[in-house]
Amino acid sequence: MSESTKTLCPYCGVGCGLEVSPPAARGQATHRDSQGTPIWKVKGDRAHPSSEGMVCVKGATVSESLSKNRLKAPMMRESLDRPFRRVSWDEALGAIVQRLQTVRFTQGPEAICMYGSGQFQTEDYYIAQKLLKGCLGTNNFDANSRLCMSSAVAGYIQSFGSDGPPPCYDDLEKTDCAFLIGTNTAECHPIVFNRLRKHHKRNKHVKLIVVDPRRTSTAETADLHLAIKPGTDIDLLNGIAHLLLKAGDLNTLFIDECTSGFAQYAQILEHYPPEMVADRCGIAIEDLETAARYWGESDRVLSLWSMGMNQSSEGTAKVRTLINLHLMTAQIGRPGAGPFSLTGQPNAMGGREAGGLANLLPGYRLVKNAEHRREIEQFWGVPPGRIAPEVGRTAWEMITGLETGEVGVLWIAATNPAVSMPDLERTKAALRRSPFTIYQDAYYPTETAEFAHVILPAAQWSEKTGVMTNSERTVTLCPAFRRPPGQARPDWEIFAEVGRRLGFREQFPFANSAEVYAEFVRVTRDRVCDMTGISHARLLEQGPIQWPCPLEETEIANPPNLKRLYSDWRFPTPDGRARFAAYHSKGLAEPPNPDYPFVLTTGRLYGHWHTQTRTGRIEKTTKMHPNPFIEIHPRHAAQLGIADGEMVEVRSRRGHARFPAKITRAIAPGTVFVPMHWGALWADNAEANALTHPHACPDSGQPELKACAVALAKVTDA
Ligand code: SF4
Repeated sequence: MSESTKTLCPYCGVGCGLEVSPPAARGQATHRDSQGTPIWKVKGDRAHPSSEGMVCVKGATVSESLSKNRLKAPMMRESLDRPFRRVSWDEALGAIVQRLQTVRFTQGPEAICMYGSGQFQTEDYYIAQKLLKGCLGTNNFDANSRLCMSSAVAGYIQSFGSDGPPPCYDDLEKTDCAFLIGTNTAECHPIVFNRLRKHHKRNKHVKLIVVDPRRTSTAETADLHLAIKPGTDIDLLNGIAHLLLKAGDLNTLFIDECTSGFAQYAQILEHYPPEMVADRCGIAIEDLETAARYWGESDRVLSLWSMGMNQSSEGTAKVRTLINLHLMTAQIGRPGAGPFSLTGQPNAMGGREAGGLANLLPGYRLVKNAEHRREIEQFWGVPPGRIAPEVGRTAWEMITGLETGEVGVLWIAATNPAVSMPDLERTKAALRRSPFTIYQDAYYPTETAEFAHVILPAAQWSEKTGVMTNSERTVTLCPAFRRPPGQARPDWEIFAEVGRRLGFREQFPFANSAEVYAEFVRVTRDRVCDMTGISHARLLEQGPIQWPCPLEETEIANPPNLKRLYSDWRFPTPDGRARFAAYHSKGLAEPPNPDYPFVLTTGRLYGHWHTQTRTGRIEKTTKMHPNPFIEIHPRHAAQLGIADGEMVEVRSRRGHARFPAKITRAIAPGTVFVPMHWGALWADNAEANALTHPHACPDSGQPELKACAVALAKVTDA
């Protein structure tokens, strides 16, 4: 293992390059954590094109989490009330294979589910698809990306004919107007925000618009902050479009020659006069007009969004309504312009490439497309008809399948649904009923491990070689630079071993992850995400490569003409045109009422990552955010007699939780905010998702984790 290794940060979808050195590299003093334990030294990789040497607190401290609370050996138990006993890999895999076969032949393959993660490397994702969809014959593979950006995927597919974010990070420094909606970029995608912020500061003409019910640290820096009421995004976007149309700020040539559906869209815009929109959204008419003016006057408009748009019962409609604005003004396929979805997980993009959702197949193909199924069946060498024609169970549908007894095996890998799923009481009750749960992870304990029958120790980032793709389609090799603890093994190796034991020897011949990746890229040939020019060897030699990177471009790693998708303004739809969509807002699935008068919105903090499986074990990040809290506007705090720091009982129709109050004008009246990071392992009765509901977008299946109705009361028995 070399002295220093270039790799990718394993936290968020920004995908910053890291350079990692051993605790005592190059004759230096040993690098140690706060307890004196030697740890690997991490710094930003200046040569990485996405981050240019920048790194946030999570990336900088990641090595502190690598050795703590690691799973080192497989464990099993017959029922949840029994203790785990340590077993060999042979015994654990034997039990899994036997159960898979039994369930497959008694209940059918559709009773088998796997719930994976954007923490997977692309090789893990790809082998899991082959095992579930190609060999076992069920599309019941879903990932935690379902909770994160599946509405963006559905929106891109419906508007452009294919998934894939058209812009790239260079556009952050080329735009004239950045429109940030439903994203606290400064905290959740800090290095993307650093790049944008520098550009905004240096160039007086550049406008920054932030749409968010909270005055976040992102909103603090904006030229215009639109603190809309939760659930009014479509009203706002249609209102801006109404004003653009009225002002004639359109690109009629682009609309006529490159799009379809504009006439119908223009008709619905008539119903969005500024007075009505401002009233519905709870903003000033002047601010709405300013937003439309900034957009209309700018040569290059870049929109950025993440979960504030996606985690909604009308998430796909929101995404498409935002894309409409880009289409009517031809703000796409050009430097500094385009609709840019930021992914949460480090390799959520790789998951999309590999088909890692219940509706997808590898190479940006769709389960519902018969031709796509046939292509993949042939490629994998499995019989025609093996890939089921129905979309598999989404994450939440796996939970409801446990409730009804339709799910016989649930295999959870690299994710923690006992904290991150909505309606946690119901989620946990369903997990308790599971007849057979396999939990494959790097860490123990976690909240989800409580519900497992078999636990498999997984090698994590730093201990296995594979690739990850960040939000701007840049693929980075992440080489192994440490040995996995104990008997931990890479996820893809575990899936392949199970596949071989099930009798699919031909499908899993791989000696290493480079061979897996080499097979995977072949299935992307001639697709929007063509990566046939990428290999482990080339990534090692040349560094990160952005796709598309087709084989014929192989002499140039990052050809400038392929930096942005759709720069020729042709789209992968049957007629080559992008599609407008005409939506009216349906509002929140659970609006407030006199019994539950507040809208709870949930989100993330700068130093923590998801359910704290890593950051909860790092001193610096836990000191930064030691406790959960609830943000309440001073007006409501006064009405309820709550002082800053006092405990507040929060109730929804599904559950309750308690948080210390943080009284602040940063949250709009009528709305309260709770961070989602605290599960039962880290705090008592402070789970944000005890309160949330599972109502999901009908197109994307993404639950509305961003809004539910709650009641508040001061705790008097504390
Ligand atoms: Fe890692 Fe994201 Fe921070 Fe970059 S911005 S260092 S990818 S957590």
